[in-house]
Amino acid sequence: MKYALVTGGSRGLGRAVCAKFAQMGLPIVINYRSNDEAAQETLEMVKSYGVECELLKFDVANPEAVEKAIAEWDAAHPDDYISVLVNNAGIRQDNLMVFMNEKQWHEVLDTTMNGFFYITRRLLKNMISKRYGRIINMTSLSGIKGLPGQTNYSSAKAALIGATKALAQEVASRKITVNAVAPGFIETDMTKDLDVDMLKKLVPMGRFGKPEEVAEVVGFLASEASSYITGEVISINGGLYT
Ligand code: NDP
Repeated sequence: MKYALVTGGSRGLGRAVCAKFAQMGLPIVINYRSNDEAAQETLEMVKSYGVECELLKFDVANPEAVEKAIAEWDAAHPDDYISVLVNNAGIRQDNLMVFMNEKQWHEVLDTTMNGFFYITRRLLKNMISKRYGRIINMTSLSGIKGLPGQTNYSSAKAALIGATKALAQEVASRKITVNAVAPGFIETDMTKDLDVDMLKKLVPMGRFGKPEEVAEVVGFLASEASSYITGEVISINGGLYT
């Protein structure tokens, strides 16, 4: 059986992606780092669609934890493999560069960039041998345009775009596609501290996006229907110029 793994799948955009995959009938592995209650809620939501689902708690930025979790999952699923990977786990720790400390810099890059590396490298082995895979990376408007106060986050998300394009070319012949989606401002916990009234004036559509509007695109990129699209970055931002 083919499974989809959604990192940071317990809340926000990741949860909406899990709901979309559940509607598509795709068995799901939900990764998260610490919030057990949110993960349990997402698990129950997915199961309500009658779809196989399980939780896999680990920190994507910790290479030993990634290896252990995936090795255990593989051992428990000898006849299954993870054919769809959504690298969605991410954090924000905004500060002006001049005031940014090393922790803020490293934690953001470790989660987005190193997390992408550890988990993707591990799951690629099976995708290559099975000659099929879908990898979708959650980047951001911030990684395309750069946003002040986010040199750490913009760097991490821009790196993810470079990695998407490079890896897409490495594995295209194995029928593995690698794409990125770049949301603008989306209503989740991550953006709840922002000045919505001020920021939505910048968006031609005059509003923040909904997680489901991002999940629709991820669902398409995860499906077999997207077979000739790879190395692309799809913006989902209500018309914000990037
Ligand atoms: P949320 O803060 O709502 O959710 C983040 C999710 O990531 C949670 O499930 C969290 O798990 C998980 N997570 C965080 N760090 C780790 C880690 N080290 N290991 C495993 N899981 C982790 O964020 P959003 O849903 O808003 O964002 C999801 C992705 O989309 C991020 O990559 C973000 O950068 C990107 N994005 C978001 C935008 C927005 O406007 N919201 C815009 C553009 C991009 P737990 O709860 O257990 O900590």
